[in-house]
Amino acid sequence: MVEKVTDGILWIAGSDKFMPDSHIFVLGDIETDDLTIVDCGIVDMGSYKLAELDSYGISTKQVKRIIMTHTHLDHIGCLRDFLERYPNVELWVHREEAVYLERGDDRIVFGNKMFESMIRSQYDIPQGFFEFKVTRKLEGGEFLDVGGNRFKVIYIPGHSIGSIGLYDETRKIFLSGDTIYADGAIGRYDLFSADSEMLKKSLEIISELEIETLLPCHNRIVKGGTDQMVKSTVQYWLPLLK
Ligand SMILES: [Zn+2]
Ligand SMILES: [Zn+2]
Repeated sequence: MVEKVTDGILWIAGSDKFMPDSHIFVLGDIETDDLTIVDCGIVDMGSYKLAELDSYGISTKQVKRIIMTHTHLDHIGCLRDFLERYPNVELWVHREEAVYLERGDDRIVFGNKMFESMIRSQYDIPQGFFEFKVTRKLEGGEFLDVGGNRFKVIYIPGHSIGSIGLYDETRKIFLSGDTIYADGAIGRYDLFSADSEMLKKSLEIISELEIETLLPCHNRIVKGGTDQMVKSTVQYWLPLLK
């Protein structure tokens, strides 16, 4: 179901079955033809989201770009379905993960060998399935003026080397990807390209933001009053990360 978070932000909850599936967010005033989709979901979990976006009335020409918070399988697995549905969209990814996608190197996508063989036995994934041309390589620190909203790209590596968050400074809304979740949880840091020391620094960066609404890619989203929750989560985890 497409739900409204607040003006200019919609979301569809991920559908966890055998595997976690990321939420997606749609940024931008629906009246504009300048919508951004953030993340897609795991393999096979694109079609229901696309059908919901269709029935909500979002048309092909309105969707201008897809931004990936990072490129793990549960976020990028069904990107191809989105690119087929919206053939003219741009793909924006942090440059650290864009280089992997552009050479078809799927080590970040799968995270580890065990997960890769599990997934490959379940789905028929051809060679080159995760090779993509990235239209815009994000750096961190830049402002994205999209669909009537302004988001700052916050580079927060650790869960993966190219993880980003999107921060609306005015409304204090933070799309955190898999780096920090509601209720005290953070993203895992044992997969390929993850780094606990980087994650520690990234959590410190996050704790310096004022965050009222937290929009992570898994589990619940929290509208309003999250600043203390985020700061306590960071304080809890900092001594445990080295
Ligand atoms: Zn992830
Ligand atoms: Zn995830």
